Amino acid sequence: MKAIVLHERGPDGVRCEKFAEPERPAGFAKVRMLAASVNRVDLYMRDSGAGITHTLPLVMGVDGVGEVAEADADSGLQPGDRVILYPYEFCGRCRHCLAGDQPLCTSARILGEHRHGTFAECVALPARSCVKLKKETDPVEAAVLGVAYLTAWRMVFGKAPAGPGSVVLIQGGGGGVAYAAMQLARMAGARVIVTTSGADKLAHFAALGVEVIDYRAEEVGKAVMRLTGGEGADLVVDNVGEKTWASSLKSMARGGHLVTCGATTGAHPSADIQRLFVRQLSVHGSTMGSLEEFRKLVAAYEAGGFKPYIDSTLSLDEVPQAFARLEDPARMGKIAIRIA
Ligand SMILES: [Zn+2]
Repeated sequence: MKAIVLHERGPDGVRCEKFAEPERPAGFAKVRMLAASVNRVDLYMRDSGAGITHTLPLVMGVDGVGEVAEADADSGLQPGDRVILYPYEFCGRCRHCLAGDQPLCTSARILGEHRHGTFAECVALPARSCVKLKKETDPVEAAVLGVAYLTAWRMVFGKAPAGPGSVVLIQGGGGGVAYAAMQLARMAGARVIVTTSGADKLAHFAALGVEVIDYRAEEVGKAVMRLTGGEGADLVVDNVGEKTWASSLKSMARGGHLVTCGATTGAHPSADIQRLFVRQLSVHGSTMGSLEEFRKLVAAYEAGGFKPYIDSTLSLDEVPQAFARLEDPARMGKIAIRIA
């Protein structure tokens, strides 16, 4: 089969080539891939991969949609079923799995990180990680949900759920997770404020009717207080990291919550402990979501609750170009990969 394989670190270590098709152990489904999408974590795997147990060569790619080719008779899956892949292989027996929180599974393996991934014509993964889609669902559009939208779902609806009456601040609104969080918070009826820069992005959010702060023109904390009459944001979604941390803390309402899922600009900002306890702020870490959250996300999407925003769609051979686009500051939303 054709696959995008990482042989060594760095952009030159990524090759599109023939790779052995995976075996299907009992309990697994074999899926012919239709589409996938690129994520920041792919760049992390390409350039470092530190802290993630894996061996090279590795088929890259974390999320995707395909069609079942083979599955056990009692799996609930039939050949031809269209499925979206839950990015985790989980044990189903540890206390976190039993509590329904698979991302905390002590032996979880993520596609394209700990094991072979989705930038391939064929993937084998546990049948329980395949979630059925409707026949008429567009595979390319759905393929961007797996990582970015699932991560955003838990950030928006997890520890401090957004809803009518709450103010949600989203830092760096053009990123895949941030854009998804903006859409999900709006779907929930929250008031959404986005920070971004550049005339195109500012105009894009303004046209959607989202309140937008140009972080190059105005200090974000002050702007949020100005917009909210000094109240601040109940929930701050921040995956930018060191660069936005201080302004995120300064934007929070008393008793507010900050959720982080990434540290693209650095991982060690000042903690501002005094502000944390005086204003009784909460900081939460978040990584993807549970299988149940994934089912809810897919149901909300198929019911028309939101439409994923796709920057561009490239072919499997063009994954290296998709990685370059991912790092382009002009990129907004998700980059999809059409496989078949
Ligand atoms: Zn487990």
